[in-house]
Amino acid sequence: MAIAQQIHQLTGTLAVGLKQLGFKLLHDSHFDTVSFALDASMRDKLLNLSVQKEININFADAYVSISFDETKNESDVKALLSLFSDLIGAKAIMPDLNSKTTIPQQLQRTSDFLTATVFKKYRTEHELMRYIKKLERKDISLTHSMISLGSCTMKLNSATSMFALSWPEFANVHPFVPENQSEGYNKVIAELSEALCKITGFDAISLQPNSGATGEYAGLLTIRAYHKKNNQAQRNIILIPASAHGTNPASAIVAGFETVTISCDATGNINVQDLQEKALQYESVLAGLMVTYPSTHGVFEDDILTVTQTIHNHGGLVYMDGANMNAQVGLTNPVSIGADVCHLNLHKTFGIPHGGGGPGVGPVLAKAFLAEFLPGHPYAANGKKMVVKAIASAPYGNANVLLISHAYIKLLGETGLTKSTQMAILNANYIAKRLKDFYQTLYVGKNGFVAHELILDCREFKKTAEIEVIDIAKRLMDYGFHAPTVSFPVPGTLMIEPTESESVEELDRFIEAMIEIRKEIKEIEDGKADKKINLLKNAPHTQSLLISDSYDYPYSRERAAFPLEWIAENKFWPSVSRINDALGDRNLVCSCNSVF
Ligand SMILES: *Cc1c(COP(=O)(O)O)cnc(C)c1O
Repeated sequence: MAIAQQIHQLTGTLAVGLKQLGFKLLHDSHFDTVSFALDASMRDKLLNLSVQKEININFADAYVSISFDETKNESDVKALLSLFSDLIGAKAIMPDLNSKTTIPQQLQRTSDFLTATVFKKYRTEHELMRYIKKLERKDISLTHSMISLGSCTMKLNSATSMFALSWPEFANVHPFVPENQSEGYNKVIAELSEALCKITGFDAISLQPNSGATGEYAGLLTIRAYHKKNNQAQRNIILIPASAHGTNPASAIVAGFETVTISCDATGNINVQDLQEKALQYESVLAGLMVTYPSTHGVFEDDILTVTQTIHNHGGLVYMDGANMNAQVGLTNPVSIGADVCHLNLHKTFGIPHGGGGPGVGPVLAKAFLAEFLPGHPYAANGKKMVVKAIASAPYGNANVLLISHAYIKLLGETGLTKSTQMAILNANYIAKRLKDFYQTLYVGKNGFVAHELILDCREFKKTAEIEVIDIAKRLMDYGFHAPTVSFPVPGTLMIEPTESESVEELDRFIEAMIEIRKEIKEIEDGKADKKINLLKNAPHTQSLLISDSYDYPYSRERAAFPLEWIAENKFWPSVSRINDALGDRNLVCSCNSVF
């Protein structure tokens, strides 16, 4: 509240001063922003003066707009008023701080907010620190063990590559500063763009999209604009294989297309015959195909060239979902498989951390003939003649975190990047091979190998032991591991992606845990353990459950908590036992005190 009041007070003071100088404000009321009309003839003079005084101001065609945040103070108001009095040749003024609000009565808040006890409870630094730590201890994270989530790429986010984020030279640059004030960023952006084009084989890039899904959306707008320019606006069908990530059809629909699903064959590959039939059937309205390579089933599809060629033969363009690019870097690239446009997930493949949902970067890349259709931005070089308008408010999206990918690429170099890809593929295949007598890998390529991730089929255990995939996921917590991806993209399976960043010792620990869990399932299959009350159904086991005097499970406490020797040495204790996931998913409203 104090912060808001201070911002409002400074804004009000500037408004009074500007009025005294004779400027016409565009609004009678304001919170943190004052806008006023400025004669076009004054613009050059304002530009010169503001550069001279080292003040950046936002001015559009016919008006100037100034906003305050909590880092500003009275001296900033003074500097601004002196700039504008100089501009019109008037004497400098500085009105008294204005604490009268201009916010209309009916818009002023009367209700309480932040009333939950948590906002009032922790009033000393010690208490707050302990509270935060208490929450942290409930999380199993990369600080404990590998997180093998498939399709997410939880790779190492090295401290070195993240270091520059906190440097004020990068952290405090406004996204709209004139280009000649951001030479460091310009260099990083240019070098990163060049590297990403080289890695993918594409000619042009836009760094605007803030996520993979937004990258898909941007790429689809690019395809749409291209067809429109060629008088082919009727092309509105996007073909999408059944194995695709859910964002693919969602993005296509948001971009205004209709989607047609292509089936997959028994080995998880695109059904080429179905693709050829549909491409022919929709020939006159075919806009393109969205294809993930290697696929979300974790295999390099042998028929990929036939697939992309088919689309081109029928007048469509190929969009490649680049989320699995970490299986390609240095070994192959989207252009060589026939893609025209693709997105990358810098927060998957190129070292930006993305646990907790952000911040992401999903750049969209294209061949030269599509470059003019990539999203533009009024403040970027292509601003004036943009065909597809900006899809992010900043010209380079989440520019700050580009520093991480830039460092990641520069530090690894060509050899290191290629080695990372090889290691990622090797690690996935190592897990698949070591688990092959215990779990069935659902999809493999012709040569028996997977790409950078693998899907373990757990559907059989339902029949043999009444064990569901979720029971395995929960039991892994007792072993100190975060579960792999559960039931995506195939229900009843686990999708595992170790990445290149895990050592063989850590992979071995994970493999041992999976093997031990398979033995626990076997005991149920053999009738040695109960079908309802067993190590898996009761997982995860909390401290309070195991220490309780009324503990009466038919297996030892030790086996529940320390099923393998090395677990005791670095035990992660789950803080709650089994919850009803489906119920939680369907009832999004929290039963605790509202936080807002
Ligand atoms: C993660 C992912 C996406 C979406 O990326 P976001 O950055 O989460 O929006 C799309 N496709 C595939 C195959 C993915 O794995």
